[in-house]
Amino acid sequence: MAKKVLKFGGTSVGTVERIQHVASIVKKELLDGNNLVVIVSAMAGQTNELIKLSNEISDKFNKRELDVLLSSGEQVTSALLAGALIELNIKAKSLLSWQIPILTEGQHSNARIINMSVEKINKYLSEEGVVIIPGFQGISKSAEVTTIGRGGSDATAVAVAKILNADTCEIYTDVDGVYSTDPNKIPVAKKIDKISYDEMLELSSLGAKVMQSSAVQTAMMYDVPLEVKSTFTERKGTKIFNQENIDYSKSVTGVAYSKDDAKITLIGVEDRPGVAANIFEPLSKAQINVDMVIQNISSDQKTTDVTFTVKRDDVAKTKGILKEKSEITYKDIIQNDKVAKISIVGAGMVSTPGITYKMFRALSDERINILAISTSEIKISVIIDEDKTLDAVKKLHTIFDLD
Ligand code: ADP
Ligand code: ASP
Ligand code: MG
Repeated sequence: MAKKVLKFGGTSVGTVERIQHVASIVKKELLDGNNLVVIVSAMAGQTNELIKLSNEISDKFNKRELDVLLSSGEQVTSALLAGALIELNIKAKSLLSWQIPILTEGQHSNARIINMSVEKINKYLSEEGVVIIPGFQGISKSAEVTTIGRGGSDATAVAVAKILNADTCEIYTDVDGVYSTDPNKIPVAKKIDKISYDEMLELSSLGAKVMQSSAVQTAMMYDVPLEVKSTFTERKGTKIFNQENIDYSKSVTGVAYSKDDAKITLIGVEDRPGVAANIFEPLSKAQINVDMVIQNISSDQKTTDVTFTVKRDDVAKTKGILKEKSEITYKDIIQNDKVAKISIVGAGMVSTPGITYKMFRALSDERINILAISTSEIKISVIIDEDKTLDAVKKLHTIFDLD
């Protein structure tokens, strides 16, 4: 008998009929003799709807109340799924974060799960009941409701699987696995049967939202085996696990992209030691994540231009800080929000020379200008104009034999 954590995403529980379909999957798993804990997301679109409502009251809606509001979406689907299972004569109950409890640490809307009590859950499982847990939330030491970041039901599933010492954690979603790129945007994308944690972590941090990146990170840290599969077909999914078991015949495994970056350039910055530190220290103190940095060579030995990228949501805050700090002097500041980050990811890159050149040549053949570059051992990312995003993804997908 295996202990399994099954997680169903927003589309999978998007209507009452779909919730009934999920109940039939759970029933089958139960009849196969498994012990089951099920994590659910809110109905697709519901979290966004709730955010919209809060914005109608204020665009600076109270953070504590926002978490109370947003956590309600998952409460609805957990009760509906438990009710649907009961209708199928299955012993099931929902347990909310405070009832378990699932403990979190950190700020509202961005907390992380640090622990969970297992007694109630294990007791119910031993009585052959199915436990349904709302994803995306927890409770802080001071008993406040918290949420753990968008897409956070994946992180709940992985944390619960880890703490309960489950045999597997299965992520049911609206595609039948992890693909070489988003299959809804690039139809020639290919399904990946197995992928390493490292590659999945890069893909998800670089925009492949099929798995939330912090969930992958936790799974990697504690070796929780993951499988991404479809709620709507019975096709085999994608297994995500430790890289020893994977074949690296391909140098590039996948192409990811995101449109949430912005590029900022400071023109005419003084060219002397300490200037870069003066620029980036206050940004780091303000929790602004700077991704890529380029400093031009100064032709007159006196001034230079510094370009860097930050998340689009952080642009106003970044400019505010740069304007306010008197020790940072520059002639002008320009920003470009209409950029996208395109990345190729593959553990096989480490042992294949020439990948960087091949990527740049392919983009230049498409007349796509590269605005910034960053690399790690298993990824290369470039910033380009946003309107060329899909052209770039298609071209790279083809050139690296992924179609
Ligand atoms: P859920 O609501 O089940 O959590 P998400 O919408 O968060 O589902 O993630 C699934 C979506 O991720 C897919 O519908 C797909 O459009 C998108 N996606 C982006 N990149 C990839 C990829 N490389 N492989 C599979 N799906 C991807
Ligand atoms: N409902 C939350 C969101 O939309 C969490 C999740 O679906 O994973 O971000
Ligand atoms: Mg998701």
